[in-house]
Amino acid sequence: MILLDGFKVASERNLALRTVIDQEVEKYGRAPHLAIILVGENPASMSYVKGKGKACEVAGIKHKLHALLEDVKQSEVERLIQQLNEDPSVDGMILQLPLPKHLDENHLIDLISKDKDADGFHVINQGNLYQKRPTIHPATPKGIMTLLNAYAIPISGAHAVIVGRSNIVGFPVARLLMDQGATITVCHRQTKDLRSHTLSADILVVASGKPNLVTGDMVKPGSVVIDVGVNRVDGKLVGDVDFEAAKNIAAYITPVPKGVGPMTINALLENTHELYLSHILNQRFSK
Ligand code: NAD
Repeated sequence: MILLDGFKVASERNLALRTVIDQEVEKYGRAPHLAIILVGENPASMSYVKGKGKACEVAGIKHKLHALLEDVKQSEVERLIQQLNEDPSVDGMILQLPLPKHLDENHLIDLISKDKDADGFHVINQGNLYQKRPTIHPATPKGIMTLLNAYAIPISGAHAVIVGRSNIVGFPVARLLMDQGATITVCHRQTKDLRSHTLSADILVVASGKPNLVTGDMVKPGSVVIDVGVNRVDGKLVGDVDFEAAKNIAAYITPVPKGVGPMTINALLENTHELYLSHILNQRFSK
């Protein structure tokens, strides 16, 4: 079994990005800038935001945390997003999810300018993705594709089974895999006999948020297993796949943590860099 070491691949890519950004700072006079909006004090969200900030520092991306109180009004978050949309020094923006229940998540995501949408969640960017047009890709699916490509895993012609159909992971990763030639099956809560599907997967992507949903007997021998899940069980982080059982059956598997998580952050940085370059070019052309 080969471990798909997302931590190693992401660290190397973040450092490579640093080299490119250092040169661009010389050339264009400023670094890319990512604004991070955090509402409340959800411990998992705070730790994700910390990780994103640290990675920005490695890659030479300026980052600013906009921390709002748990009971912030919808109108206040809207105002902050508008301000950041209008601020020419900001290239990318993310709204750390999940948000407190009283906030309208979809409305707030839609308010983020599609040109500053570092997470790739905006409805126009997702629409472009589904029409196979150039766009910013959602960070986790983009990170998964980068990881598969880093290990030269053949995608064209493979049967990829995705467990989960969320707008931020399952559905877009299915699209990206299909675009690279995979035949896809998307499973979800209503899927009957999940095992019969997962057992036929050359590439199995699990993003259900259900700890150890996929057991060893659900994994096809010699397959590639991508475990997106991050669940805290008895104070320990575990994925959606029973790693100990699956690692003896799969040919490639991601660990949790240090698999998909760091790749998601790397994709976020690469998206911010892409947005920065398009802003720099637009500013140059409009002069
Ligand atoms: P979600 O709750 O929005 O979607 C879960 C999906 O799983 C749904 O489509 C649902 O139909 C499906 N599902 C749930 N139970 C199932 C079952 N028993 N059988 C088949 N399908 C089932 O979750 P999400 O936002 O897509 O996240 C999924 C997991 O990935 C979570 O653990 C989340 O924390 C993690 N995540 C990790 C990263 C990362 O960077 N590592 C990024 C995003 C999400």
